Amino acid sequence: MTFCVECGREGPTFEGVCADDFCRKHVLVRAPETVDLVRCVHGAELLVGGEWVVASVEDVLLDLIAASAERDPKVTKVRYTYEVRPQDERNLAVTVKALCTVGPWELVGSFHTRIRIQNGACPTCSKRQGRFFVGTVQVRADGRELTEEESLKAKTIVDRSGSGDEFVSELEDVRGGFDVRVSSNPFAKRLAQDLSRALGGTLGSSATLHTQREGKDQYRSTYVVRLPGFREGDVLEWRRGRYRVVGLGDAVRLENEATGERVRVRARELRSARVIPP
Ligand SMILES: [Zn+2]
Ligand SMILES: [Zn+2]
Repeated sequence: MTFCVECGREGPTFEGVCADDFCRKHVLVRAPETVDLVRCVHGAELLVGGEWVVASVEDVLLDLIAASAERDPKVTKVRYTYEVRPQDERNLAVTVKALCTVGPWELVGSFHTRIRIQNGACPTCSKRQGRFFVGTVQVRADGRELTEEESLKAKTIVDRSGSGDEFVSELEDVRGGFDVRVSSNPFAKRLAQDLSRALGGTLGSSATLHTQREGKDQYRSTYVVRLPGFREGDVLEWRRGRYRVVGLGDAVRLENEATGERVRVRARELRSARVIPP
């Protein structure tokens, strides 16, 4: 019969000691306090073992735990089970149990760690973001900057516009408005129509540029959503009269301040109108 050289207890031993004493002298498994996991900000890809994969955090958690845990050299095999508690959008508290094979035993080790989700950009999305756009929508206000309300309204529409193959590559603020680059011309047109309707602007299209991409013909169209210099409720001086703006759009609705008469006027005819400060 063998006995433990540490405590003298009789029974199976490994390297001269019993299971209890082995556990006292060895840390079976350990892991860093935090483990970083990089997630693509544009899509759902995760960086795992140096490669981007389309997967959920749950999908890769076991691999991530196994890759970051350090085991005692005497541990020949480990099986992990874990429990996850999300702390916030970027942090997951993980409690891991490790069933470790050591000599004749299966011993249970455990540790806590925190998975911290970091922002990254995968090459696929970076490529899309950087170069792959076909249509452009320009939103501009005449002779002024967009109001905060207009800007917020427009960007909310842009954010919700893409689905499937249709996506927004880039949104760039410029003087007097912003540019949106998108994946197709029909999508650009539809988005421009939506923006124009929601903001009370007029829709025009500008040059279509013909290019070749990987040997294929490609047309890059630009649609311009033009917002008038005035807003609903403003009073305009126009053709020797004073008019209150009561409706925006391709046809602007005006009310004559003196007579109360209502008229519809094409937006471009009002270019010469002057806003009377309240
Ligand atoms: Zn012992
Ligand atoms: Zn991505």
